[in-house]
Amino acid sequence: LNHRLAEFGTTIFAEMSALAVRTGAINLGQGFPDTDGPEEIREAAVRAIRDGRGNQYPPGPGIPELRTAVAEHQQRFHDLAYDPETEVLITAGATEAIAASLLALVEPGDEVIALEPYYDSYAASIAMAGGTRVPVTLRPRDGAYHLDLDELRDAVTDRTRLILLNSPHNPTGTVLRRDELAAVAELCVERDLLAVTDEVYEHLVFDGEHHPLAGFPGMRERTVTISSSGKTFSLTGWKVGWVTATPALVSAVRSAKQYLTYVSAGPFQYAVAEALALPDSYYTALREGLRARRDLLAKGLREAGFEVFSPAGTYFITTDIRPLGESDGVSFCLALPERAGVVAVPTQVFYDHAAAGAPYVRFAFCKREDVLRQAAERLLTLR
Ligand code: PMP
Ligand code: GLN
Repeated sequence: LNHRLAEFGTTIFAEMSALAVRTGAINLGQGFPDTDGPEEIREAAVRAIRDGRGNQYPPGPGIPELRTAVAEHQQRFHDLAYDPETEVLITAGATEAIAASLLALVEPGDEVIALEPYYDSYAASIAMAGGTRVPVTLRPRDGAYHLDLDELRDAVTDRTRLILLNSPHNPTGTVLRRDELAAVAELCVERDLLAVTDEVYEHLVFDGEHHPLAGFPGMRERTVTISSSGKTFSLTGWKVGWVTATPALVSAVRSAKQYLTYVSAGPFQYAVAEALALPDSYYTALREGLRARRDLLAKGLREAGFEVFSPAGTYFITTDIRPLGESDGVSFCLALPERAGVVAVPTQVFYDHAAAGAPYVRFAFCKREDVLRQAAERLLTLR
């Protein structure tokens, strides 16, 4: 392994899911739903395969139907206008979109600011691009995580190339408020920074509202907006994601993407184009269903003795294990399948400042209610 990737072994998600399989524990580690997305959308993929749509290499930027559907989605939900011809790129999930964006936009030695704890692929993608990551820590206070805008401002140097922003935020469930995003936008404009925003949880907001950074003054021309079908349609295995940005930025990201995967799975693109056009009732039901499950798991975790940071969005609840007399999330999570038959993820692995993340553990609630109830019952044995 070259020196850029030397610090990255197996992802924590693969490791914890393997632990769940090995021990038969309930997997509240890796964030994937245990109920597949809409049957009509799955049928649409089958139909595309049967009808011979997308079985051969689709166009590099993605099929026109999906690019149009993505542009319509940005208009419908966020009032953002993008030209499907030149301002939309289809990728192999958000993961590839993030990697391609960083490979395209970061020069070796450039600094990339990311909110810590950060999604694990950010660190590896920044490293692959030869960049230096500069974490700005979200700190828990009064039952939620907070971004310190002064700390963010202080993190910008003459070498800063871009801010890699993630809201709704994995793993903390933080949804940045409009005033916080406005401050981030002002900083980007003032210091002439690009922004790459990971908005894969854009439809999973329970408290407050999601505002795309590209919608703030001066940001449309400097923001690469990334999202994906995985979370929005409960189809994480399909790996259909997208980028919306100016023609120059999309063209840059496409240059990297075409040599990573060239194109992404054809038949799924047809199906996701149909999914994006589902009525508002679909999106509302998804959110409300997850809200109920968030509340169910949060209650169970509180009863088991955890301190719970109630998430405003995403699939995840972060907890503090210190009320249980524990302080190290990694050893806690390694022992948890044996102790209680549940798998969770230590958020410490998403920090550069490991000490700042030591006592926190993430649980996924994108699971059936009976599974969450059973997990909560098992966790009671920790008391
Ligand atoms: N970003 C965040 C914040 C995530 O939680 C995930 C995990 N799904 C991804 C990106 C990756 O998305 P995809 O599966 O579309 O590659
Ligand atoms: N995004 C999912 C999570 O945070 C996992 C995706 C993956 O395994 N790479 O749990």
